[in-house]
Amino acid sequence: MIARVALPIPRAKPFDYLVPEGMDVEVGFRVRVPLGKRSLWGIVVSVSPSPSYPGELQPIQEVDGPAVSGEVLALIQEVAARSFVSPGLSLGRLVPPRAQARARRYRLSVSPHKARALLEELSRKAPAQARALAALLAGERANGASLRALSRKGIARPEVLPFSFPLREPRREVSLTEEQRRAVEAVAGAEGGETFLLFGPAGSGKTEVYLRAARAALAQGRGALLLEPEVSLLPQLWARAVASLDEDVSLYFGELPPGERWRVWEAALRGKLRAACGTRSAAFLPLKRPGIFVLDEEGEPAYKQGDMAPYYHAREVAELRSAQEGGVVLLGSASPSVESYFRAERGEIRLFRLTQRVAGHPPQVRLVPKGEEVLSPELQTAMDRHLSRGGQVLLFLNRRGFFTGAACRTCGAILRCPGCAVPLVFHLANRSFRCHVCGKALPRPRCPHCGGERFRLFGLGTERVEFEVKRLFPSLAVARLDSDTAAKRGEILAGLAHGEIDVLVGTQMVGKGLDFPRITLVGVIDADMLLSFPDFRAGERTFQLVAAAAGRAGRGEWPGEVIVQTDQPDHYAIRYAAQGDYLGFYREELRFREALGYPPFSHLVRILVEGKGALRKAGELGDDLTRKGFEVLGPAELHPKAGTPRSQLLIKGGKDVVEGLRQALPTLPHGVKVDPDPLWLV
Ligand code: ADP
Ligand code: ZN
Repeated sequence: MIARVALPIPRAKPFDYLVPEGMDVEVGFRVRVPLGKRSLWGIVVSVSPSPSYPGELQPIQEVDGPAVSGEVLALIQEVAARSFVSPGLSLGRLVPPRAQARARRYRLSVSPHKARALLEELSRKAPAQARALAALLAGERANGASLRALSRKGIARPEVLPFSFPLREPRREVSLTEEQRRAVEAVAGAEGGETFLLFGPAGSGKTEVYLRAARAALAQGRGALLLEPEVSLLPQLWARAVASLDEDVSLYFGELPPGERWRVWEAALRGKLRAACGTRSAAFLPLKRPGIFVLDEEGEPAYKQGDMAPYYHAREVAELRSAQEGGVVLLGSASPSVESYFRAERGEIRLFRLTQRVAGHPPQVRLVPKGEEVLSPELQTAMDRHLSRGGQVLLFLNRRGFFTGAACRTCGAILRCPGCAVPLVFHLANRSFRCHVCGKALPRPRCPHCGGERFRLFGLGTERVEFEVKRLFPSLAVARLDSDTAAKRGEILAGLAHGEIDVLVGTQMVGKGLDFPRITLVGVIDADMLLSFPDFRAGERTFQLVAAAAGRAGRGEWPGEVIVQTDQPDHYAIRYAAQGDYLGFYREELRFREALGYPPFSHLVRILVEGKGALRKAGELGDDLTRKGFEVLGPAELHPKAGTPRSQLLIKGGKDVVEGLRQALPTLPHGVKVDPDPLWLV
């Protein structure tokens, strides 16, 4: 027999290998094969009696066993083809490698009191375990085998997640509103392959609908995948799913330790896991017979894998899967993507609206001008008022660091990353200038033009907001959550939940979906920042940011308040967001998109050219595609990345533009990447 094996290398089709006599190899198995002088792990994509390659074949060296189901294998191959990368590379990035689950640490699962009582008993029968238990009590390191023994006895438990959180939610049976009931019935009774959009403001009971629909799928013997755009939203959804589903619900996301990732993946593959919560990569979990794919906050751009191939959107993956494996897709949001609402309006997907808030109150939103100070007088007064009543405050700013720009005091030149040409950001935490593109840190930079060493610092990042809040409110507990502090995310969110944090400053990762009843005031520090992006989605992003901020305030008993600092209060994205009027925004945005022929009235494909002569190569490629009849925008020169020049083309076309490009470019030239339906153009 001959096996075709997809190997994790770019631009390569699968290779043929001989299956040695007596070796059990099937489609989806992971195998080790020789390639030149190397030996690589790959995945078997087909097995057949005759080779497609005429030369002499080498034998497979080793079999590891099943790694992916046939359905998900086909899915990943399709996703790979759509983003012009090799199936092997895509499989290598999406199918987790086998790894030993190793607990990062163990925790007591009994009270310290009980543990001390057990110590005495154990020290007679199992002294090694007693020593391990004593170490746990003292917070010290202990022997792994003994800890595992303690965990089998239920005295300790391994902690595998990179964050912890108050993860218990009581099960609450609510009686559904009429609107919720209709949505649940429609979703639960739908044919496979259908997509639904559940449109309702924060607190309108969308999550309750997701969980009831998931329960219905599980009751029919099918699986349920519940997705969030950000890791920080998973603990809450997961806790509610665990309480509501009567089912083992696993967590799956990119930052999981490798052993845990493989454990969850393999459990799905073996049919031992039927429900999971995760971020975009969980859309590929090989659950058997998936019955429902839920995407909460479906308009969030984080659902798109846009910085590394294979490029995909979790919504697209879920829809491909539901078409092939059955099951339905349930999208939910208070501010859906323009594309999804457009599809709903045209009847391509079914729309359900939740118009009543079942929890909390709509917040009062005020637009105030940005002033000299980081926190406007209005925001300061409101903070005083809310904090003195025992409320918590959330402050958003979409940029990390302390000062976001520096100009030479001698010649006025802006300090830029030598490799990427973007302005350097000053970070207080390690007192250095950093490039947000390549990550390079420059502790003592000099002006590249005149050698000057003194800079005028300007611009506003989250660190500076945190600093200002601490200066103005010295007695408060202030925390910051952005990607610089993400490792402490669990502690920070727990601190917020327990009321130990009064003010949380963060980038948008804290903004979405967080459900903390004591947050009564949300401040958007600079609503104009996203508006100035040279991207046709700038308005949509701005609307989403302000709308999400409004969704965070007033989830509990107390009415919420939102203060948005902006110098463009009349811009439609900001105005409609302040009024909580998604449809108003949508109509105006749609007119603009139609006038310019942008999505959803067209499809875009982004072609990125990297390396020496990128601009010239992009120009030639663009000319070639124009001759072949494509509508080409650009080439536009992008800022380089770590010294590598970059340019891009945008191809505009209809539904079949990706397929057309695939035929026009059967093999991609070196240094060229293709991202279909990009969500960011800069
Ligand atoms: P969303 O996902 O739209 O923000 P949730 O589903 O989280 O809304 O609902 C908000 C709160 O209201 C939750 O605490 C939820 O348990 C509760 N809830 C949801 N539906 C109902 C209902 N029909 N009756 C009473 N409470 C409800
Ligand atoms: Zn750089």
